[in-house]
Amino acid sequence: MTISQLSRTNVQALTPYQSARKLGGNGTIWLNANEYPTSPKFQLSGKDLNRYPEPQPQAVLENYANYAGVKPENVIVTRGGDEGIELVIKAFCQPEQDAILYCPPTYGMYAVSAETIGVEMVTVNQTTEFQLDLPNIKQALENNPNLKVVFICNPNNPTGTLLNRTDVLKLLETTRNRAIVVLDEAYIEFTQADTFVPEIANYPHLAIVRTLSKAFALAGLRCGFVLANPELIEILNKVIAPYPIPVPSADIAEQALLPENIEMVKQQVQTILSERDRLVKELAKLPNIVEIFDTHANYVLVKFQDGQKVFKALWDEGIILRDQHKAVNLQNCIRITVGTTEENQRVIEAIKTVGCVC
Ligand SMILES: *Cc1c(COP(=O)(O)O)cnc(C)c1O
Repeated sequence: MTISQLSRTNVQALTPYQSARKLGGNGTIWLNANEYPTSPKFQLSGKDLNRYPEPQPQAVLENYANYAGVKPENVIVTRGGDEGIELVIKAFCQPEQDAILYCPPTYGMYAVSAETIGVEMVTVNQTTEFQLDLPNIKQALENNPNLKVVFICNPNNPTGTLLNRTDVLKLLETTRNRAIVVLDEAYIEFTQADTFVPEIANYPHLAIVRTLSKAFALAGLRCGFVLANPELIEILNKVIAPYPIPVPSADIAEQALLPENIEMVKQQVQTILSERDRLVKELAKLPNIVEIFDTHANYVLVKFQDGQKVFKALWDEGIILRDQHKAVNLQNCIRITVGTTEENQRVIEAIKTVGCVC
């Protein structure tokens, strides 16, 4: 037997997550991972690494709880939001038996985590308005008693759209005593819309995923959170690795969550939002664009007449965007992360010249 044949059959079949970094590209302008375009500067406050870290760094729990308006027992710190997604599946889904549900087009990691663990996937596409198809979600829950976790994303990646609040509440009612709802709020800082965090008090089966990778400009830190009731948090603590958060990450996360830095994050968000609005305004003037979708995040989804041509032309120029052509209902769409003023300007100029016979 080869080593490959020795691996689990679902792992043999697995297509790993096509992370922005893995896709490569000879980029000078990286606008494909929804990162913040510049880095905050932090100093490590300690340098000793001979001891294992706290399994759940208390200061980070407390600072994030303060920031999110919950208690520390409502929080688990994870290696990025992605680990939170995986932990919920690990804790609630029996491999080769249970299933998760998600609503394409959406974030790719729900599927990749489920496939890795060996859990079935049920998909209920979003409506043409990128809203939840509640009747079909309800039907799926009725048809499949092993459906244990429902993933939704708000604002949604890659569309940037917001879900109707009443639909999310209806979903939470439908799933009560029936399934876990994971609400992914990775981009919540970029929207005026309210977080669902206060609803944790009303729904014991609600788990909210958060991250420092986007508005906090710390994607390299690998720090995320799940917010839920203590019973659910304790279950996740049973399945997480013993020492998941490296000492340097906890150190910097603690500083990043102090009130003075949170003020800075709010200003960073304002900068991105005004840049985004300018980018959208400039894109709207271009002839090869079919639609610019309404966005509530630090990226914008754009439909072109020939999206792949635009994607490739910019790629060849070292401007790396995220092609969404193969995502459900997103033919010819490209997701553009909002970068610095200069980067956004380069994107606009580059798109202008694609297909130009001048
Ligand atoms: C970026 C992102 C995450 C989490 O990313 P991490 O870097 O692992 O924290 C989770 N969900 C969505 C929708 C994202 O875009």
